[in-house]
Amino acid sequence: MGLLSYLRAHLLRTQTPARNDLPPLRFTNTLSGEQEEFKPLGGPVKMYNCGPTVYDRQHIGNLRPYVFADTLRRTLNTWGHPVEQVINITDVGHLTGDNVGDADIGEDKLEAAAARKGQSAQTIAEEVTGWWFDDLDALGIERKRITFPKATEYIGEIIALVKTLEQKGYAYRTPDGVYYDTAKFSGYGKLGKVNIAGQLAGARVEENPHKKNAHDFALWKLSKEHESRQQEWESPWGVGYPGWHIECTAMIFKLLGKQIDIHTGGVDHIPVHHNNEIAQAEVLTQKQYVRYWMHNEFITIEGKKISKSIGNTIYLYQITDRGYSPRALRYLYLTAHYRSPMNFTWAAIEAADQALLRLNRMYLELPPSGMPADEKFAKGFYAALADDLDTPLAIARLWEAVRDPSMPPTVKRACLAIADEALGLGLALPRKQVKLEVIPLSQLPEEVTELIDEREQARLSKDFGIADDLRAKIERLGYTVKDSPEGPKVSKK
Ligand code: AMP
Ligand code: ZN
Repeated sequence: MGLLSYLRAHLLRTQTPARNDLPPLRFTNTLSGEQEEFKPLGGPVKMYNCGPTVYDRQHIGNLRPYVFADTLRRTLNTWGHPVEQVINITDVGHLTGDNVGDADIGEDKLEAAAARKGQSAQTIAEEVTGWWFDDLDALGIERKRITFPKATEYIGEIIALVKTLEQKGYAYRTPDGVYYDTAKFSGYGKLGKVNIAGQLAGARVEENPHKKNAHDFALWKLSKEHESRQQEWESPWGVGYPGWHIECTAMIFKLLGKQIDIHTGGVDHIPVHHNNEIAQAEVLTQKQYVRYWMHNEFITIEGKKISKSIGNTIYLYQITDRGYSPRALRYLYLTAHYRSPMNFTWAAIEAADQALLRLNRMYLELPPSGMPADEKFAKGFYAALADDLDTPLAIARLWEAVRDPSMPPTVKRACLAIADEALGLGLALPRKQVKLEVIPLSQLPEEVTELIDEREQARLSKDFGIADDLRAKIERLGYTVKDSPEGPKVSKK
């Protein structure tokens, strides 16, 4: 679709004023550390968002990057850029120790979960992916526009890339795998201007004696002699599995090409994962891998890092179990800039839900009309999005418009419509306040009460992994558990 016909179709749908004067889009590029005007490489915008490692349910921190990516996609579309979007599913090779300085040690997260739960890695990956897809749908992320490749389906491509890196002299063998030689890549660490020496000084380094440099990372890991892995493949180096970083590069090359416009992920990916991706790709292609790198900051919960060991993890279903709309979480995310840390509290989700409910009601109560949105509002709203996706400012401008007593209701509705399309708030969705009916423990089937008791024991002993598994079992029997200060509250799903 040409730009003009795209804009025409778009204008008709949302009845906005002419947009040929949309300001240029500007994004903060982690590579330069500065805001830059967005200029596509040509053709549809190719965007890759680092996806989940599907060994466990994604929490509300993990979900922020996908709402950010979806809002970015909507904005690019509004500006007339079609987008080819890929989000990978990491179902092998991401190690528990894949952090600064201790990369390539630890266990494969999928294999560890399989051993812990007594289930196959594939079953876990499928179940967790299913939960994640449900969350994406609930958050208004349009899945049909996105390609979701699984790492295990790209093993052939990965092996081919590792072979080429070896032929070019950038990879070396050790007794436990094939490693990338970071000393050979002169720009190593350029993303986020990582202070390699300083970073290592502060990191927990568990030495792998066979690595030439501490930052070298595994491209292919060999299965250990007495290890029985569920997921392993033949390769020129022996039976094993891919390193996490090469997975993303292989999927990008195959699905989007050798150079892409935008690559996103959480800020934790900057120092290691994304610098490693650059090192591999740029040696393979001799081209700039990614034009714009964009990273979202982290979510904390009640002021603390989200952590299973603290036991403060919150999942989307816990928010909807309390009767809040899943879009309230989306709204809450968007009230902070994607590059700002955001603290989740139950008071904040309550306020977000109330605010969204008001917008929702206004939208549904006002009749649609052919009226365009207020021009001053539209200008200010799009200017906010153009300024490095300033969603908090865009939302503030929406409230200013809908509170303006001089603005006719039909115009307000048109303002709400353009905001909804850009931000994915789901204003047209009917609001049903889900109030789950709590069933007294004495009226539950014995099988369920036993699981509830076991789960309480696990929670008390801070075995949160076990508690989560028990929750999944309870859910499979058709019940949900909500933890409250008075103890567990159980309802029918
Ligand atoms: P993972 O499944 O752990 O690889 O994480 C999925 C995505 O969530 C990655 O892009 C991470 O950078 C991001 N992420 C992890 N924890 C948080 C958090 N607390 N807040 C925001 N993003 C996060
Ligand atoms: Zn990645």
